[in-house]
Amino acid sequence: MAQFKTFDARVMRSIPLSDFTKHIELEVSGVPRFGFVPGQWLSVKATTPDGEEITRAYSIASPPSENGRVVFCLNRVQDGFMSNHLCSLAEGETITFQGPFGDFILRPPPRDTVFIATGTGIAPFRSMLHWLLAESDRHRGRQFWLLFGARTEQDIYYREEFDRLAAKHDNFHFLPTLSRATDDWKGLRGYVQQHLGEIVGMRTDMHAYICGLDKMVKANRELLKSLGWDHTSIRYEKFD
Ligand SMILES: Cc1cc2nc3c(=O)[nH]c(=O)nc-3n(C[C@H](O)[C@H](O)[C@H](O)COP(=O)(O)OP(=O)(O)OC[C@H]3O[C@@H](n4cnc5c(N)ncnc54)[C@H](O)[C@@H]3O)c2cc1C
Repeated sequence: MAQFKTFDARVMRSIPLSDFTKHIELEVSGVPRFGFVPGQWLSVKATTPDGEEITRAYSIASPPSENGRVVFCLNRVQDGFMSNHLCSLAEGETITFQGPFGDFILRPPPRDTVFIATGTGIAPFRSMLHWLLAESDRHRGRQFWLLFGARTEQDIYYREEFDRLAAKHDNFHFLPTLSRATDDWKGLRGYVQQHLGEIVGMRTDMHAYICGLDKMVKANRELLKSLGWDHTSIRYEKFD
């Protein structure tokens, strides 16, 4: 059995994105640069108060950088240990992890692509989209849609950042949709799968990446398959 290297990382910043969600910036110790591919995740280890060692996966929510930093976008899960432990960490505290792991990564050749996320499922797409849009030869001539489902406006994580990216790149379209919108919300309403058909139309030559909880992933995969998509064009990561 392969032995994976274990790393420590220090919490540099922990910022609430909503009442139950945190953006946590970590600096990996002992390496000048931490290499990974956008879409990959880390396996975080911690010991519960009962002395049980547990590991949980967390997608890296930042693009590869020169400074050894990675970001997590974390949701507190009711009665869960790891998610609450990580969301409660103070700046300066450390975590232990192995990785990077995972093959939920952008597949060549580049095609027009729809990214579909709900909640913290936005994490791998924040990494992928910053990476893609950073250099014109990674995205030139292609269209990208980010269809992001949230309950309310407060739950649209990284909204200003994605709005800025969309303003800068006319081939990137940021489409938040709210399931519990107030009357004054002017954007899309309802679940992501209610809008996916409008984006893809009759096309089956695109890529789709889906990330979030099982039920949402399933609904979107089924919809795309019913529209004639080949399963190899649909990639997904389930968080539960
Ligand atoms: C590849 C991968 C990447 C992941 N990346 C992220 C990430 O970037 N951010 C993130 O917040 N979580 C992510 N998760 C989920 C994470 O690994 C944990 O499952 C989650 O934090 C709950 O762990 P826990 O120890 O707190 O609770 P547990 O005791 O392990 O879980 C309690 C219950 O909550 C369910 N559950 C798991 N995740 C969620 C969720 N997000 N919302 C609601 N219920 C859930 C579980 O199925 C379980 O029934 C990822 C999971 C996988 C497999």
